[in-house]
Amino acid sequence: MAKTAPIAPKIGIVSLGCPKALVDSERIITRLRAEGYEIAPDYKGADAVLVNTCGFLDSARAESLDAIGEAISKNGRVIVTGCLGAEEDVIRKTHPKVLSVTGPHQYEAVMEAVHEAAPAPHDPLFDLVPPQGVKLTPRHYAYLKISEGCNNTCSFCIIPSMRGKLKSRRIDAVLREAEKLVEAGVKEILVISQDTSAYGLDLKYAPYKWRDADYETRFFDLARGLSSLGAWTRLHYVYPYPHVDDVIPLMAEGRLLPYLDIPFQHASPKVLKAMRRPAHQERTLEQIRRWRTIAPDLVLRSTFIVGFPGETEEDFALLLDWLKEARLNRVGCFKFEPVKGASANALAGAVADAVKEERYHRFMEAQQATSEDILRGWIGRDVDVLIDEVDEDGAIGRSYADAPEIDGAVILEGETDLAPGDMVRARITGSDEYDLWGERLANGRP
Ligand code: SF4
Repeated sequence: MAKTAPIAPKIGIVSLGCPKALVDSERIITRLRAEGYEIAPDYKGADAVLVNTCGFLDSARAESLDAIGEAISKNGRVIVTGCLGAEEDVIRKTHPKVLSVTGPHQYEAVMEAVHEAAPAPHDPLFDLVPPQGVKLTPRHYAYLKISEGCNNTCSFCIIPSMRGKLKSRRIDAVLREAEKLVEAGVKEILVISQDTSAYGLDLKYAPYKWRDADYETRFFDLARGLSSLGAWTRLHYVYPYPHVDDVIPLMAEGRLLPYLDIPFQHASPKVLKAMRRPAHQERTLEQIRRWRTIAPDLVLRSTFIVGFPGETEEDFALLLDWLKEARLNRVGCFKFEPVKGASANALAGAVADAVKEERYHRFMEAQQATSEDILRGWIGRDVDVLIDEVDEDGAIGRSYADAPEIDGAVILEGETDLAPGDMVRARITGSDEYDLWGERLANGRP
């Protein structure tokens, strides 16, 4: 007689925060699926709801507390984890009914709470999890987390106190995970961590074997290994340490996407010192020039904070000049917001909200003009486009210059016969401040 699978308990998941939190959610979902749980599409059908919170900015904390409140009112059985979970008292004060609270990447404790809320059906044959795990991102791109925590002490940030010191994953484990993702159809790997260029420091760059070759647990070997997989590899959260220079030739050779996400945060040496940013920032323009000589197609993305305590009009003018000179391709800007527990809150020279607002607009205007100008220069170029979405008007994809979710897009009007994950060749025919338009080339794949 055929064996009937036991009825699987269903767990609802609310995932808030950055890509790093998304990777935590993916790991938890992988564990849940491996134990036979199902993921509930809504609150109603769920036996319990897991809320993965973000605690970085006050606005994110408020969003996390709201999400917990909504889950309690719609379901009632709520398990909380993630960055804000590191502050159990804050959560319990607002939501005393939560079943359990754990901090970031405490997978074991989360699973224990789930077992208590909704016991697992024990049947190892039931609902086998795919070997590459379960991903929340679309099938054709995946985030690859190489480490947790951070050894820096940026004064506006509380991540090191929430997530602890740098803990790198062994390089063979990271490369094996990337290999499985590519085997499963992933076309683009997005490397994430708090400080990607510091990778391996805590493991003293320990050597391991992968595919019968020697690799050290360090930034360059990671880039070298990933570049052999035949997928797009995009590096996020890289600081401009001198050894970053070593990967630029791999980009020039087309083995690694010529794209670097470097959170510069500011350009004024005085503000950077008050921010306690890692890496020596005064020579960054020189460094960028050198990189572009080696890899002329290099695209740089960054984020900045305006209105940091002590930022004078002179500091801000210096930042604008630096920005114009650096001609970064993609830029995000935040107005300084005090984060509970951050040492920057005690700094003198708070900038008035109206001044922050005004600087933010001047910053964005300056960058918009640069971005428009750079993108206009793309007209006539032929590029590979990875398709993300297709609807009745056409396809929307990205070139190597655009990371998913945060950068622009390449729009291919009328291309309705494509599918997400297709890689096609297109000629750029139009542009605006953030996006490009293109025409698929007759011999363009697929
Ligand atoms: S590098 Fe700075 S901003 Fe980034 S996680 Fe570490 S301390 Fe926070």
